[in-house]
Amino acid sequence: LPELPEVETVRAGLERWVSGRVVAGVEVRHPRAIRRHLAGAADFEARLLGRRFGVARRRGKYLWLPLDDADSPGSALLGHLGMSGQLLVQPASAPDEAHLHVRIALADNGQELRFVDQRTFGGLLVDELIPAPDRSGDTVPELIAHIARDPLDPAFDEAAFVARLRRRRSGIKRALLDQSLISGVGNIYADEALWRAKLHGERLAAALTRPAVRALLAEVRAVLGAAIIAGGTSFDSLYVNVNGESGYFDRTLNVYGREGEPCNRCGTAIRRVAFMNRSSYFCPHCQRRPRAIRM
Ligand SMILES: [Zn+2]
Repeated sequence: LPELPEVETVRAGLERWVSGRVVAGVEVRHPRAIRRHLAGAADFEARLLGRRFGVARRRGKYLWLPLDDADSPGSALLGHLGMSGQLLVQPASAPDEAHLHVRIALADNGQELRFVDQRTFGGLLVDELIPAPDRSGDTVPELIAHIARDPLDPAFDEAAFVARLRRRRSGIKRALLDQSLISGVGNIYADEALWRAKLHGERLAAALTRPAVRALLAEVRAVLGAAIIAGGTSFDSLYVNVNGESGYFDRTLNVYGREGEPCNRCGTAIRRVAFMNRSSYFCPHCQRRPRAIRM
């Protein structure tokens, strides 16, 4: 499952290889891949043909490429990779991938942007851009305007995040996974950041001090930043790829997936508990469980 660092690697690849290019042809080979473009394949193709892609952007796990249409603020090609989606830049002569769903031919250089998705939970659409609600002069696709910025976004409002999080009557981990509060923090990175901040995920968000929230946010940024650097190292050829793997997983995980193994800080065995149909990993010594609250 691609998380923010993998998606950022794809965004950087799109910016390098696709931004500035003009769409010379569009072929939708599998309608499910554009099911969220409600006007259908012919409309999807018509709205892309002849348009030039602007600078690639990301919010949470969504990616978009603004289009140079005449209207302002215009529209964008918006994509989500889902469970297994890939955006590949390939020469037109490269054989079709087994699960090639959308092919976008780029003018001038004989290359194609290909959306490949084995499980088809991801997809593409052309969406309207609207003014960003939290920053004048900035735009965001309408469909994802409700998603909060991620903590690596230069416009992320740290003071507003701290204040909003401290009003939450939920556990801190659940708050970190709430896309309307902060985006891009998946299950793995939440567990890693909580371990680094020595906070148990079930601690009540509203009970944390401002300095504790700021320290946690710094650890979230550190974890995501390190993962982006690790993920980015594999991206150095004419190939935009995401497959949920990155070098980060081999080297840097302190708790996630390490049930029963010693904590890298204190040696206590890492614990795993069920959490929202997934798992939470933590060190029971470094990350003390909150005391039961008497009602
Ligand atoms: Zn420990």
